[in-house]
Amino acid sequence: MMITSRNNKPVIIAGAGPVGLCLSLALARRGVRVVIVERLVDLLDQVRRAGTIHPPTLEMLDELGLYAKLEGRGLKAPLMHYWNGADSEPIAVFDHAVLKDDVRFPFALQCDRLKVVEEASKVVATLDLIDLRTATEMIDFRQDADSVTVTVKSQDGATEEITGCYLVSCEGAHSFARKACDIEFEGFAFPDRTMTLSVDFDFNVQRDYSYRNYILDPVQWANLFKWTDVWRLVLPAHPDEDPDKLLDDKVIAEQLQRFHPTGQPYNVVSKSLYTVHQRVAKAFRAGRVLLAGDAAHVNSPIGAMGMNSGIHDAVNLGDKLARVLNGEAGDDLLDLYVRQRRHAAIVHIQAMTIRNKRLMAEGEPGARKERHDELRRSADDPGKAREFMLRASLIQSVRDAAAVQ
Ligand SMILES: Cc1cc2nc3c(=O)[nH]c(=O)nc-3n(C[C@H](O)[C@H](O)[C@H](O)COP(=O)(O)OP(=O)(O)OC[C@H]3O[C@@H](n4cnc5c(N)ncnc54)[C@H](O)[C@@H]3O)c2cc1C
Repeated sequence: MMITSRNNKPVIIAGAGPVGLCLSLALARRGVRVVIVERLVDLLDQVRRAGTIHPPTLEMLDELGLYAKLEGRGLKAPLMHYWNGADSEPIAVFDHAVLKDDVRFPFALQCDRLKVVEEASKVVATLDLIDLRTATEMIDFRQDADSVTVTVKSQDGATEEITGCYLVSCEGAHSFARKACDIEFEGFAFPDRTMTLSVDFDFNVQRDYSYRNYILDPVQWANLFKWTDVWRLVLPAHPDEDPDKLLDDKVIAEQLQRFHPTGQPYNVVSKSLYTVHQRVAKAFRAGRVLLAGDAAHVNSPIGAMGMNSGIHDAVNLGDKLARVLNGEAGDDLLDLYVRQRRHAAIVHIQAMTIRNKRLMAEGEPGARKERHDELRRSADDPGKAREFMLRASLIQSVRDAAAVQ
């Protein structure tokens, strides 16, 4: 029998991305009532972005009833390759099998963010405890000692107030709540831009790629990932070049031929150019307002850590918020969420994604050789390979965060 939380005001979640939806499921399974407001009319009407789900996230999604729905919609990716430029042999190959005693799912699942959103929203629709309101944007809020009142605007311009016990901003990187609470988004932006392309072409024809490949090169580094229907490429883009020129079809075609010459035109399904920020909010909490996911921290896509660490926030916060609302713990338990997840964001996610970005493009020959040797040493020694994969798959970040008091 579902026991409903003693607190009769709902938790209000702003944003129905993967983090907001997972948080709503984590709360509802403990009997907490939730209202989610999402400004999009159609949740699937957006770019796919994230495409790799790491093993600890798969376990969390399983707990939320989502893994079984996603497994068949993705590709199991046990291997991860590091390549040096156009060399025919990889520098190093890592296999998630070294994690078989650490995790129930010793592989990453190549499964894009929209499938997570789609499956999560289908489950949400079956639950009476969750009221998901699309085409509804949070435009303001105020809080007092007992509650938080959110002003929302619907598509026709009508406004309404919703009162809840807590507000969680899962609004993504441009979080209105974070800005309204005057919380600094500490960090920096890389000067060069990053280009992502989805390409309908089988890159396996010339090299024995796995589903996840990091190609190290000072000029033409690349991440090459197989999604179910297309290959996803992340490439560098010069900071001084005109963005329109960089996204010109002819320029992209030339860049792809340099990367992987075929002499035949590539079918580029989607393209985007963006500036990568490495930032963590100075606080994840201001009274009854909490931040999770990209609203709290953003990072380079190299290493596939943004959506994953956001879902880890959602599960951590869902557990603590439910305990507070069910009268099992005091409100200060929410400060533990902040300490644990800021620790994971700063010590693990930021550090690893900054290192990954530098590794891709290292140009100094001595440092480059040293990094390649280090990768080889890690891959060749089973103990070191496990340590490497514990970090790369975010298991270590979840364990270390749980140990923070
Ligand atoms: C190119 C690229 C590749 C990436 N690849 C990966 C990867 O492989 N693996 C990985 O883990 N991560 C990856 N990421 C990062 C990942 O996409 C994000 O970390 C993840 O989507 C964050 O989820 P979220 O729910 O916090 O925010 P979002 O997904 O941004 O969702 C926020 C939601 O809030 C809504 N919203 C915003 N403001 C309001 C408001 N005021 N009122 C109501 N609704 C609002 C938005 O419409 C949106 O639906 C990638 C990112 C990029 C850019």
